Amino acid sequence: QKPVPSDIVVSRSCVPKPIDRLAKEVGLLSDEVELYGKTKAKVQLNIIKRLQSQPDGKYVVVTGITPTPLGEGKSTTTIGLVQALGAHMKLNVFACVRQPSQGPTFGIKGGAAGGGYSQVIPMEEFNLHLTGDIHAITAANNLVAAAVDARMFHEATQSDKALYNRLVPLSGGQRKFSPIQIHRLKKLGIDKTDPSTLTEEEITRFARLDIDPSSVTWQRVLDTNDRFLRKITIGQAPTEKGYTREAQFDITVASEIMAVLALTSSLEDMRQRLAKMVVATSRSGQPITTEDLGVSGALTVLMKDAIKPNLMQTLEGTPVFVHAGPFANIAHGNSSILADKIALKLVGPDGFVVTEAGFGADIGMEKFFNIKCRYSGLRPHVVVLVATVRALKMHGGGPTVGSLNNNGCNLDLLRNGCSNMRKQIENAKHFGVPVVVAVNAFKTDTEAELDLVCSMAKDGGAFDAVRCSHWAEGGAGAMALGQAVQKASDAPSNFKFLYELELPIADKIRIIAQKIYGADDIELLPEAQHKVELYTKQGFGNLPICMAKTHLSLSHEADKKGVPTGFVVPIRDIRASVGAGFLYPLVGTMPTIPGLPTRPCFYDIDLDPETEQVNGLF
Ligand code: ADP
Repeated sequence: QKPVPSDIVVSRSCVPKPIDRLAKEVGLLSDEVELYGKTKAKVQLNIIKRLQSQPDGKYVVVTGITPTPLGEGKSTTTIGLVQALGAHMKLNVFACVRQPSQGPTFGIKGGAAGGGYSQVIPMEEFNLHLTGDIHAITAANNLVAAAVDARMFHEATQSDKALYNRLVPLSGGQRKFSPIQIHRLKKLGIDKTDPSTLTEEEITRFARLDIDPSSVTWQRVLDTNDRFLRKITIGQAPTEKGYTREAQFDITVASEIMAVLALTSSLEDMRQRLAKMVVATSRSGQPITTEDLGVSGALTVLMKDAIKPNLMQTLEGTPVFVHAGPFANIAHGNSSILADKIALKLVGPDGFVVTEAGFGADIGMEKFFNIKCRYSGLRPHVVVLVATVRALKMHGGGPTVGSLNNNGCNLDLLRNGCSNMRKQIENAKHFGVPVVVAVNAFKTDTEAELDLVCSMAKDGGAFDAVRCSHWAEGGAGAMALGQAVQKASDAPSNFKFLYELELPIADKIRIIAQKIYGADDIELLPEAQHKVELYTKQGFGNLPICMAKTHLSLSHEADKKGVPTGFVVPIRDIRASVGAGFLYPLVGTMPTIPGLPTRPCFYDIDLDPETEQVNGLF
């Protein structure tokens, strides 16, 4: 077999069809499509209304075993599978994937367009900027951050009256509230629209958010792996008059606004979610929202294009939606509900939509079901669980980092490591959906190893387990997977959530830790305990849970491989993403912005000034 060239060489060897032609092929009308050059387009949301009565297609989620730091091929399998179902089995298909963060693109892992002969193309367009959605999120997020600190500063340095006069300035001799200010007045129980009728007490209540600076949970974000921003002091210029504060940056894909984009169902719903985001607590214990800051309308304006899914294509010309890109370890790790919904309508009842949930099944898939499916109302027909021999050997006691080479056939190591796959199969089955294991074959894998993984998977409760070679052969290498998925999609499924929303916060966290991670228990550290009490009091106790946990182990300790037992999961802190709609417990010391390694990917990346080609992008 010929060696597979680098991802960018494969990507460039294929001329993509014009995106307007693809749009037409999948049934989009020309006025529903906004072209971004020749290979990318945004799809307008009015299509949802047009296709309202069309039955949905089959819904497939791709997840994986606990991966090595290099990834085990979920994106590659998502693309390989739709190429098999679409280009080879001639079914209507759509892949729905996340837009990658530029943190990993320039840092350690590389892109997320898939790999080898199963990729979204052009991969450099996919991996860099796309249509600017992540930049829009950075802009929107940091507008909120600026609004929080500016507001605290203005409140600290002005009298009530001066503050009010500036918040409601004179215009043509009269003061007038903006619509957002009238909202705030209503929330305060002040049913007035004429500024001249406010009492002194009402003026103070309206003008002062009275944010407790130590309670600010809204962080600045950047889509770069800049570890030195993990803890910063802001406000050090003399113009800020000593109002300094310790703060931090998160990576953009961990922003609540990214989660809002991924979980929203319409422009109106996004507007409401962007207004409900809680940024801090007032000194009297009230949650302070983006609506209170007056910034929610502006956020919606910044996000009005980002909400439209991006259409691209695979190497074999099948359609792909690329939309939203939350990380799966420190966020909820799934592409957008809107993209999935539109794709399910476009493929029709006999078609397939394959969507990817980030990292292992204990993280991305658990959140796919308990958060994404809860909000979308969609129920998947099949779970595809991606496994590799190299990662299973690592779980069996083999080398952990960079073990790209398979280190020779070692069936004992592999058999041991299959425990991780079997636990992840069990995790998927908690939700009552049939599981097909896709063994993503590497060229160093032996027949005996691939057979062993398939038989251990079937023995462990998988509906089916097949080996696939779509990385080396494109869709043709995932035909067996396509057929297995088609069969499984007709099997009975009995979908259920893992926990009920009405349970106390700690119970929901404990259920995830015990049932999915295999923990003995959880331990709420003092800050987390305080947040449980605060959020319960503030009325946010009924939100689903989005665990921020390492993806490299079923437990909270990255170096514990296989199926760890006898551990207690420490919950250090909990944050509330009220607009997105989840509580976000931080397990152990998960950094919310990654760092760069000594030798980052960017060393290889350059532009050829003659051809304007990007080189070295994996
Ligand atoms: P994930 O989505 O699970 O993180 P990816 O699909 O992004 O994983 O794959 C991670 C990396 O491994 C990519 O660079 C991809 O090209 C490579 N890869 C995936 N499958 C194979 C395979 N079968 N053989 C060789 N490399 C592979």
